Amino acid sequence: MYVCGPTVYGPPHLGHGRFSLVFDVLRRYLRWSGFEVDYVSNITDIDDKIIQRAAEEGRSWEEIAQRCERVWYRAMDAIGVERPTRDPHATDYVEQMVEFIERLVERGAAYVAPDGVYFRPSVVADYGLLARQSIDSLRAGARVGVDEAKESPIDFALWKLAKPGEPSWPSPWGAGRPGWHTECVVRSRDLLGDCFDLHAGGQDLAFPHHENERAQAVADGADFAELWVHNGFVEVGGEKMSKSLGNFTNLLDLLDAHDPRAYRMLCLQSHYRSPIDVDSTSIGNAEAALARLDAVARRVRDHVADLPDPDPETIASFAERMDDDLDTPGAMAIVFKSVTRINSLLDAGSDLVALPLISALLSMMRAVGLVLDVDGSELPDEVVALARERDEARAAKDWTRADALRDELVAAGWVVEDSADGTRVRPG
Ligand SMILES: [Zn+2]
Repeated sequence: MYVCGPTVYGPPHLGHGRFSLVFDVLRRYLRWSGFEVDYVSNITDIDDKIIQRAAEEGRSWEEIAQRCERVWYRAMDAIGVERPTRDPHATDYVEQMVEFIERLVERGAAYVAPDGVYFRPSVVADYGLLARQSIDSLRAGARVGVDEAKESPIDFALWKLAKPGEPSWPSPWGAGRPGWHTECVVRSRDLLGDCFDLHAGGQDLAFPHHENERAQAVADGADFAELWVHNGFVEVGGEKMSKSLGNFTNLLDLLDAHDPRAYRMLCLQSHYRSPIDVDSTSIGNAEAALARLDAVARRVRDHVADLPDPDPETIASFAERMDDDLDTPGAMAIVFKSVTRINSLLDAGSDLVALPLISALLSMMRAVGLVLDVDGSELPDEVVALARERDEARAAKDWTRADALRDELVAAGWVVEDSADGTRVRPG
């Protein structure tokens, strides 16, 4: 699979986090299902935005790109996204891109203009496939920038001639740099071949980026990707998250304030094609779901060294949901159903009966890349604190306060029991 990676000019935002998590889950699930996965994801290390950032900071574009790449991988490590099998960099592919563009010009699919080389989508019979629009309606909706010398508004740049002071590489048309759509098509075909299984990215990349990658490959005689998969937007307060809307939210800020697994849980509880809303409520709900999983993992930690095969029925229902267009919300419902069953079996002292279910739970966690926290108390700190506060209230015969604290715990999904040692709390 080829996943369109980041342009490294700033810290990763929540949209970056989402596509990385969605395709990390897909990758892990495919491997769990028995596939061998070659995961290629690029780093765009030269681009207008990098050049602009470098000018603003008075540093070289290389320094900006290298620094932002380090920040990118640190954030990906923190949210548990596995490193790609290979991560081709745009600047390592410039020569191959120039050769490719030359071939497209020879074939009549591209032409040389005063400011660079452009591609003619009209040579591709089914252009508009990914946009789900005809070439005529795309042409009618396109706008031409004032400084562009294109034949048609839908033509796109393969090579941009450098303005004075800009980084550049030599080419038959003059010094310049490659267009973004060309980077991905050259790198994916070089590393995965002319026909590969999956091409993935955010929904905003379907058009024009993926359409234009595919158009170049088709014009060059390649079949290109068999399947395309696009994840939905991240919304903040119901609006698409983007820098231009001013609601841009940094992934690093989220990691500072919350359990780094919470964003993966939130993505798992939403379908990958649906928009998700990231706010304190949705992240808080994800953390509560994690606490339930951690609590059961702590209850069963003495059993994990010697587990039988996973319960086949649970695994089959989980796989059925995941195989249906990666229905992770459905799959997580199976996970939580098994948590409830494990807890009631353990409560009843039927540990042996619970073992295949525990084994299934751990297997499902591996499939989606969730690592459960088995250390420490079985209960989250705030729950322990509430239980202690209730014991103090009871000792002081403040029954109203004690009842209010019990209600608070019950409302958060905990079972509260009185015992000789005081308040006992366990997951419901
Ligand atoms: Zn791409």
